[in-house]
Amino acid sequence: MLSVKNLSKSFDGNTILREISLDVAAGETTVILGPSGSGKSTLLRCLNLLETPELGQLSIEGDTVDFGTDLTDEQVRTIRQHSAMVFQNFNLFPHLTAQQNVALAPVLNGKKSKAEAKKLAGQLLAKVGLEHKADAYPDNLSGGQQQRVAIARALAVAPDYLLFDEPTSALDPELEAEVIQVLMGLAAEKRSLVVVTHNMAFARRVADRIIFLDGGTVAYNGAPAGFFASDHARIQRFLQIFE
Ligand code: ADP
Ligand code: MG
Repeated sequence: MLSVKNLSKSFDGNTILREISLDVAAGETTVILGPSGSGKSTLLRCLNLLETPELGQLSIEGDTVDFGTDLTDEQVRTIRQHSAMVFQNFNLFPHLTAQQNVALAPVLNGKKSKAEAKKLAGQLLAKVGLEHKADAYPDNLSGGQQQRVAIARALAVAPDYLLFDEPTSALDPELEAEVIQVLMGLAAEKRSLVVVTHNMAFARRVADRIIFLDGGTVAYNGAPAGFFASDHARIQRFLQIFE
């Protein structure tokens, strides 16, 4: 279970997240929706401490940090080990092959030997349908393939929670579909996924829970059916964009 209580984050005196509280159940797909600038990326980045909130509390799988005082390196490490992030722009290391990208973190964090990490990378690339691209460099892969390598790389650290920040927003529809397929596979395996996306078909079909952010607050938190049938004016206006 991942739990956020009264989390607040500001930049330059502007409050971006305002006393956010929510729970993310393990084994579920949680989709975060909301207009541009509503704080979706900032919230996701707070979950792995890429951003540090000023106030509130974060608990992941029993490890808890209270914000408002400086966190120790040990606290940051402990929280970070529970999740892995997949970014909109893939962020692969350009000078490493697909396999080397996937194998890197488990070696650096001391969890796997080089040989073990290489074997794991091969298995994870096969899982995302890219075993034939193990030796390719990112420049020689399509955007969809790069994002699938990035997903394999995230899986390589065996995170409790996978965090996706608009994983298909940089992709053409065809390439988007191949990445969505991988996400649907992970959801079917009951992985714990937190996905910021504008893909409404994915939200409707795959989400167990929808969180709708508006102006840095949670405007909806519940089942997809209730979200898509909401009579909340702000949600209706948001959904009209996708009709
Ligand atoms: P979303 O992902 O929903 O589009 P973001 O979390 O990226 O929203 O941003 C929310 C608000 O916070 C925006 O107004 C954005 O300009 C601001 N913001 C995000 N990151 C920073 C930063 N590092 N410094 C200053 N302002 C930021
Ligand atoms: Mg964003």
